[in-house]
Amino acid sequence: MNEPASIPALSCADDYDPNSMPVDKAREVIARFLSPVTAIERVHVRSALGRVLAEDVISPLDVPAHDNSAMDGYAVRHADMPGAGEVTLKVAGTAFAGAPYAGSLNAGEAVRIMTGGVVPPGADCIVMQEHVTAADGKVTIGTGHRKGQNLRLAGEDLKAGAPALKKGQRLRPAEIGLVSSLGIPEVSVYRKLRVAFFSTGDELVSIGTKPTEGQIYDSNRYTIHGMLERLGCEALDMGVVRDDPKLLEDAFNQAAAAADVVITSGGVSVGEADFVKELLNKMGEVVFWKIAMKPGRPLAYGRVGGAHFFGLPGNPVSVMVTYYQFVRDALLKLAGQDPVEPVPTFKVPCTSALRKAPGRTEFQRGILSRGADGSWSVRVTGEQGSGILRSMSEANCFIIMPTDQGNVAPGNLVEVQVMEGII
Ligand code: AMP
Ligand code: MG
Repeated sequence: MNEPASIPALSCADDYDPNSMPVDKAREVIARFLSPVTAIERVHVRSALGRVLAEDVISPLDVPAHDNSAMDGYAVRHADMPGAGEVTLKVAGTAFAGAPYAGSLNAGEAVRIMTGGVVPPGADCIVMQEHVTAADGKVTIGTGHRKGQNLRLAGEDLKAGAPALKKGQRLRPAEIGLVSSLGIPEVSVYRKLRVAFFSTGDELVSIGTKPTEGQIYDSNRYTIHGMLERLGCEALDMGVVRDDPKLLEDAFNQAAAAADVVITSGGVSVGEADFVKELLNKMGEVVFWKIAMKPGRPLAYGRVGGAHFFGLPGNPVSVMVTYYQFVRDALLKLAGQDPVEPVPTFKVPCTSALRKAPGRTEFQRGILSRGADGSWSVRVTGEQGSGILRSMSEANCFIIMPTDQGNVAPGNLVEVQVMEGII
């Protein structure tokens, strides 16, 4: 396991106010202390989806391997093409994808060729089948054909010896296909990031246990598990831990020993945080921020033992918002992905009136939809309380309202971030 960078500067040397920490500043501070995994393993391409390349993938061959046709038509010699009028050529044979023409093309000949077919030696021009008249083993062709037209040249996409993919690239279906197209069966990837997580709270019971009066089902652990799985992490579920200093200390010790990252939910709000603070100061270096955002104000970040630590708020919506806005990118970096680009945002008209106090960033839950005229707009999911998980479930985007923004009137443009694809 990699030791996280030491973070003594976190609590004193920075010019931020932990009681009103801007979202961007928190992201920046977090990014400073991330030390990615370094251990490498070899995996078959079939098991490589979502993994991060630990080495460049070098192409062992030219892509395409041969000059080939981009169209269905006839391979000809450009020298045979007429300057005026028409020419009639003898069809000498066929070049289909996977079944090349055996000979080379002589003057006065054409070869019937299909898309992907290897261009026979001698040919330097492909005439589309729509531009010829074919009859009795002959084709008649008019003017206007350029040398090299409709030809895909060997090595045009990628030259042998050139990097096809760079270290740090996360493998999506496109990359899996690309690696396979080079005939490469295995790739070097970083080992999966190990993330241990637990919920804190005396009121919580796990599903399968009947809650008594005042108790509620733990949902955060299941949400976090789902989010970690989608990100390709190895998720270590450590259950519910009571608000008891001894039990929490044991849980933190176990989690930090087993994982690269420890994520908790609950126990970081004012009042509750006090004994957690004391405990974590003893076990590592942790800062407790009140982020200038809604939802998700309290957030703890730092190092516990040898592990990176994120202490998320307890409210189920706050857990998801803080995870997506702070933890996701950090986990991708820790897993070796480089670069990690922010999830794109764009502006659309909002059909709802939104209330917003300036001075903090708000992440409301929105539904992007397409109107009858084909244009996109967004509306809010309804009640935005940070305990209403249904607002996340109904949403397909965040409506992000920056610090300085005030109320939004229907028809105003707002910034949205699509949730699907955040992976
Ligand atoms: P806390 O930050 O611990 O004060 O929790 C804030 C709110 O979130 C309280 O109403 C908790 O009951 C609720 N909460 C905390 N943890 C969970 C959890 N794991 N699942 C569902 N609700 C939770
Ligand atoms: Mg609690």
